[in-house]
Amino acid sequence: MHYIGRFAPSPSGPLHFGSLVAALGSYLQAKANQGTWLLRIEDIDPPREVAGASDAILRTLDAYGLHWDGEVLYQHTRHEAYQAQIDAWLKAGEAYYCQCTRRQIQDAGGIYRGLCRQRSVGAEGAAVRVCIDNPVTAFTDIKHGELALDSAMAAEDFIIKRRDGLYAYNLAVVLDDIYQGVTEVVRGADLIEPTGRQVSLYQKLGAAPVSYLHLPLALNADGNKLSKQNHAPAIDNANPGPAMEAALSFLGHPVAAELQGAPVEKLLRWGIENWQISKLPNETEVITAF
Ligand code: GLU
Repeated sequence: MHYIGRFAPSPSGPLHFGSLVAALGSYLQAKANQGTWLLRIEDIDPPREVAGASDAILRTLDAYGLHWDGEVLYQHTRHEAYQAQIDAWLKAGEAYYCQCTRRQIQDAGGIYRGLCRQRSVGAEGAAVRVCIDNPVTAFTDIKHGELALDSAMAAEDFIIKRRDGLYAYNLAVVLDDIYQGVTEVVRGADLIEPTGRQVSLYQKLGAAPVSYLHLPLALNADGNKLSKQNHAPAIDNANPGPAMEAALSFLGHPVAAELQGAPVEKLLRWGIENWQISKLPNETEVITAF
């Protein structure tokens, strides 16, 4: 089977060292498997989008020699497909409207227990939840083996469309990975927890499952995740070498002295030839000074 991988950043800010690690790890794993590496811009949440971030992400990937295959897929072009699936599940009784507020769910213990399943709530101002009858409480990760998930969370009828009309990440990511023929998902370990929900959706759709590889998450010295939200600094487009070498090293593939300072294309070629999952750190979180 031909390998298809992808990098799927949200345009909530410029790429920082943590997103470079996710981009690089998914790229090397795809290319070491003679695969295709796709780019998808996950712009489903306009309030969290930063103007110009999508284009800045593309420019940065180019500057780092991380050239994607084919056209970029933007999630804002996929609304009809998301809605069609939601409508099909609503019609089949596989999804339902829910008007419970976050506050009500908090007061009831924090986990939603399907209150609106039997209630025939109207669509106006309501979220849509999917019926989860066979919760997924574990999945196999290529690096970490079997990972157990919180069972109460796994059993929750989670939201696939929000009250504000925005499509939920778990729905969009699964429908798009299927649409793009993705065979393996390589991404940061912060997305281990929602993986159970995503596997549930594959099962519900009767779609062929994908394999998963979660890369260590980059933390700053305070132990916080580097993220666009907490303003991790953008990586340098003008001088990509140092961040590229640091990202290779973070992923357990430090470059030898004679390669240090080489152009990123050369570093990437070396990375593809030497890529081994066994060299990735065993931890799911790693502190970086970069
Ligand atoms: N868009 C998500 C993010 O930037 C990643 C989605 C995924 O890789 O599944 O965190």
